This record gives sequence, C-alpha cells and structure tokens, in this order.
Amino acid sequence: MDFEPLKRAYRNWRRMHVCARPPAMPEPFFATDDVDALNMFFQTHPVAATGGPGSADILHGQCAVCGISVDFDIEQPNDGSPVNWRETLKCPQCGMINRWRGCLHLYEAVCMPFSEDRVYLTEALSPVCQRLESRLPLLVSSEFLPEAGPGEVVEMHSGPVRHEDITQLSFENHSLEAILCFDVLEHVPDYRKALSEFHRVLVKGGQLLISVPFNFRKETLVRAIVKDDGTIEHLVEPCYHGDPLSAGGVLSYYDFGMDLLADLGRAGFSERFVVCYSDSGWGYLEKNVVFLARKLKR
Ligand SMILES: [Zn+2]
Repeated sequence: MDFEPLKRAYRNWRRMHVCARPPAMPEPFFATDDVDALNMFFQTHPVAATGGPGSADILHGQCAVCGISVDFDIEQPNDGSPVNWRETLKCPQCGMINRWRGCLHLYEAVCMPFSEDRVYLTEALSPVCQRLESRLPLLVSSEFLPEAGPGEVVEMHSGPVRHEDITQLSFENHSLEAILCFDVLEHVPDYRKALSEFHRVLVKGGQLLISVPFNFRKETLVRAIVKDDGTIEHLVEPCYHGDPLSAGGVLSYYDFGMDLLADLGRAGFSERFVVCYSDSGWGYLEKNVVFLARKLKR
C-alpha cells in the first residue's frame, strides 16, 4: 500500500496546527507579543552573573543539539571587555554557540520540522548549516555573493555556495516549508522587502524563524541609513558584525525592537510572536529573543 498521500496529508495538517502560541510552548521557552511581558520574563528568569576577566571559562550544561551533557566553552575577550554571551558558550561536540543552539532547539521543539521539509537557511558557511544539512536533506543554504546572479552556485574554496539576495529571492512562490534567518536581517537596509519575499516563497502554514540583535524596547533603533546617492549615513556609532566573507565584518543597520512584529504583519504573516528564553542548564546565558511567524493565507 502506498502511504505517501496519507503522510503528505498528515504533514500538511500538522503544519497548519503547529507553531501555536502558549500553552503549547515547551520549557524553557516563553512566547509573547508584549514588550513589558518580555522584560518581566527576564526579570523573573535572571541568569547568574558569570564570566568576566579571571572567571570560569566553561559552563556545564545540556546541549540541546547533541542531546548530551557538555562543558560549554566561554570565550573571554582579550581586551577585558564583557563576554558576548550570544556569540559564545560553544559546545565542544557540535561546535555551536549559544544563539545557534537556542534557535535550533526552538525550531525542533516548537516548529517540529519533518525531515522532508524544504527549508531555506540564510547562511551557508557555518556549523549550523552543516548540522541542518544532516537533519534536513532538502535544506537550501546561501550567502550573499555580490558578483553572482540570482540562485547562482559559485565554486568556493569550501565547496559550492549558492547566492541569494534576500530582498529578491530566486525561489518560486509557495515553495518552502520554513525559512531560518539567524542574525542576517540587521545587515539588510530594506529588511521589510526581505520579509515580503520570505512570505511570498513560503507555503501556507510555512514558518519563519528570525534571530536579530534586540533592544528590549517597542521601537527599532535605526543605526544607519543608505541615502539616495548610495552612501551610508551613520545615525549612531557604527557597529560591525563578524562575517565569513568579509575581513572587516558587515555593518549592522538596526537594533530591532518589538515593532518587527508589526513589520511581519504588514508582510502578510498572520501569526507572529517573540519567544524569550534564558536558562543556564541549557547553556542559554543572557536574555535571548527570537521572532517566530507563520503564513496562514496564500
Ligand atoms: Zn552540541
């Protein structure tokens, strides 16, 4: 007997019914769309102050990706500046840092992907990509390669890498079950166009998971703008993030606030909320925030 149509029907049904708001939210995650509730959550879930010069350089905990207890490695900055908790706490087994582990944990626990899902990851040169490729055989990953055409695959020293401009994706309409966009959106001046593109290419019931630098306020802080003549005007102190393809890093245009939810709504996402978590047992130090949205209409 051919079970494929039944399996497909079940997958479609479940896609429409997962990614719901609490009470379905599993530990240690909390979902809200209210910035006061979010800040209250972090007041009642304080994480012990650790780190800083001379303090421990490991944290014992459970890696959600590997499913085992490990000693997370804490990278102390050489210049005595504070530890960047989102970018450290690397698992010695899978090599993944705090924000990647948290996002994948959330994706598995809340979005519950099928291995047959067509998923797009907006990065291709990272441990998170390698990990997802083994979990999701149909994963498509890309980097921004300015010289390449839409969807073009370029041979690089690490192997073939696909180019995508997320404000102008080469994917067909309604062709992906999920999009994972980890700390990319703040580097895209016209990020609202990217949200519309994400909505266009997702199937009905498709899910979007976004991590970005978050300012714990209602309004997004615009750090820099691109002027009509193409030059960049800095409104606050420029901030550059590490990037596998540029030695000097890439400029961050935004520190997002809660109003990214309204932008997701304008792009067509009917269900949208933020998920917060802070849990030393899982190695999620600091106040972690991830945006989750689902497309409910075609
Ligand atoms: Zn691990």
